[in-house]
Amino acid sequence: MTAQYAVIGHPVAHSKSPIIHAAFAAQTGQRIRYDKLEAPLEGFIDFVAQFFAMGGEGCNVTVPFKEQAFAFANQLTERARQAGAVNTLWLDDDGVVGDNTDGVGLCRDLTRHINLAGKRILLLGAGGAARGAIGALLAEQPAQLTIANRSADKAITLAANFGGVSEGCGLPDLTGRSFDLVINATSASLAQAQLALPSGLFAPGALAYDMMYGQGDTPFMQQARADGAAQAVDGLGMLVEQAAEAFRLWRGVQPDTAPVLAELRASLA
Ligand code: NDP
Repeated sequence: MTAQYAVIGHPVAHSKSPIIHAAFAAQTGQRIRYDKLEAPLEGFIDFVAQFFAMGGEGCNVTVPFKEQAFAFANQLTERARQAGAVNTLWLDDDGVVGDNTDGVGLCRDLTRHINLAGKRILLLGAGGAARGAIGALLAEQPAQLTIANRSADKAITLAANFGGVSEGCGLPDLTGRSFDLVINATSASLAQAQLALPSGLFAPGALAYDMMYGQGDTPFMQQARADGAAQAVDGLGMLVEQAAEAFRLWRGVQPDTAPVLAELRASLA
């Protein structure tokens, strides 16, 4: 029988997840169906419960439902608990399990470009995407992990809640500091807005990484290059890697992400 999976969000029409999972399924010989499903803004819990009641085996959850998916799951993995958000759900014998594959997806993509151990990392943002990234970044043993946010209090609280984070601060507090890796986990690029960052943030050879994807160079990538970043990369690889981790959890096979990422990037060019 064909196993049923989906991505649930609102809106969801733009999602590339069905293309990615179809490519993984073809590559690994798995028979799955993977749909895009738009849940009503006020009705996610009933919607996802119905999805599982109708025979769904697992789903990805995207904006704005990741916190509700966290509340819905009967069991949580440690990384979901740390993130306070769930992007992957599946059924097991004891009910619905919730995990967060965003952090591991981010780190797998980052390590294509940079070895994270011993590096000074700046994470911009304190929303769901930033929370999902912290545990996975710390596991790579950076020399420092600083979190900075427009609303400084949120970054300070996040830093206080995660042992191992060096510091939480506001954007102006970054004046005079430099980093080997700067990750944009804010939604500023979605609005085509530039971040109010001090100049000189990028150490020689530094990588700038924007979690945003699908629109070519983002305002953050342009800003980073102009300020001396050696490389600026978007979040398409993170999208493919977080999907691969979900696919592995659901199907027990690890897909090869490189050809899928290359194909997706070519289709967006
Ligand atoms: P949230 O809405 O939870 O968080 C938004 C964050 O962005 C807050 O920290 C907010 O700061 C900050 N922000 C928004 N606008 C500005 C601005 N103009 N200047 C400075 N800071 C700003 O969003 P998410 O965490 O869910 O998503 C963030 C980004 O990550 C999105 O672009 C999303 O597409 C991307 N993403 C990519 C993934 C991938 O697979 N590549 C996976 C998950 C997310 P404040 O607290 O001050 O409001």
